[in-house]
Amino acid sequence: MIVDVVVAAGGQGRRLGGPVAKQWLTIGDRTIFECSVAACAASPLVRGIVVVVPDQDLAAARTLAARAAADKLIEVVPGGARRQDSVAAGLAVVPADAQVVLVHDAARPFVTTEVIARVIEAASSAGAAIAAASVHDTVKRIGCDGAQCWIEGTIPREQLALAQTPQGFRRDVIDVLLPAMTSGADVTDEAALAEQLGYRVHVVEGHADNVKITTEEDLARARRTLAGEAPVAPVVATRIGIGYDSHRFAAGRRLVVGGVHVPDVNGLAGHSDGDAVCHAVTDAVLGAAGLGDVGGLFPDTDPAWKDADSLGLLRDGFARVTAAGWRLGNLDLVVICHRPKIGRLADAIRASLAEVLASTPDRVSVKGKTPEGTPGLDDAMIVHAVALLERG
Ligand code: MG
Repeated sequence: MIVDVVVAAGGQGRRLGGPVAKQWLTIGDRTIFECSVAACAASPLVRGIVVVVPDQDLAAARTLAARAAADKLIEVVPGGARRQDSVAAGLAVVPADAQVVLVHDAARPFVTTEVIARVIEAASSAGAAIAAASVHDTVKRIGCDGAQCWIEGTIPREQLALAQTPQGFRRDVIDVLLPAMTSGADVTDEAALAEQLGYRVHVVEGHADNVKITTEEDLARARRTLAGEAPVAPVVATRIGIGYDSHRFAAGRRLVVGGVHVPDVNGLAGHSDGDAVCHAVTDAVLGAAGLGDVGGLFPDTDPAWKDADSLGLLRDGFARVTAAGWRLGNLDLVVICHRPKIGRLADAIRASLAEVLASTPDRVSVKGKTPEGTPGLDDAMIVHAVALLERG
């Protein structure tokens, strides 16, 4: 069964009162929005995710949603004036082959995969379903005359449930709901509209933690919940490593800098291809992981490494780093030489290193310096590298 989710963050969250809409506030180290999107993406039953946000937040939301939903993100679209207009905008771009579509509120970051699975199953069989929490407190109907309130009756709590999201609908129901959403009267949620259209909306068990963050108290409670769960939350560990290398320029050698071939310039002397950038980077990442250095792994006394492709050595070295559970956080390089001009090569070097380090160029920095006022360095390339590794 193909299931997609519309995460609705179209609202401005005015009840929290601040200048920032509630979905952009953070709990832990992520926004409420990211937590909600990631919680939906974590369900193995969910194929894709459409996100609806206020028009002015589109650019930022695209970055956050891509990070939270990874390869499950289908599209980020602007919302409308009312919640139902926003949901309709999201439903309109859900691929036609989705057999069940869930609608989830971006202000509910703690939804569980079990709740998502229950809604999917019920929506698939019944056409429309909603997660709801049981009411444990005794509920009173009250009367008020302004200054004073009194009990007028007790409502049997077995007849009550607190509506949550996700709410789920089969494709044939969506096809009826969607036009009614944009043309119809105001409704508080999609389930209410389905009721009005004559569908029986099935109720499945929600979760007490699947709260909607609406007030300052909700936000404080959510932050406390997350802090209390810190031991089981992902912990990001970091390690720093430093690398250094220098090679003399030599006539008749091919110049390779960070795996990038530079024509018309003398190459660097060395047992391997002399790529000092790759050697310094290899030392930095190995050093951060506590796995030795390039000279120990690929000794220049070993004929196997004669004229070796140093980018390949870096790839081999970094494979040991990833096998130990680390990934690259970022890498910063200073390359000191008169020629070639490193600034013109920087983007190509960043792309080359990022590819080998299973990262992206935005996490790799390459800065060129000339050795002004440093006697004896005119005929060499010197490289300093600092690498941050992370895991968790
Ligand atoms: Mg070297």
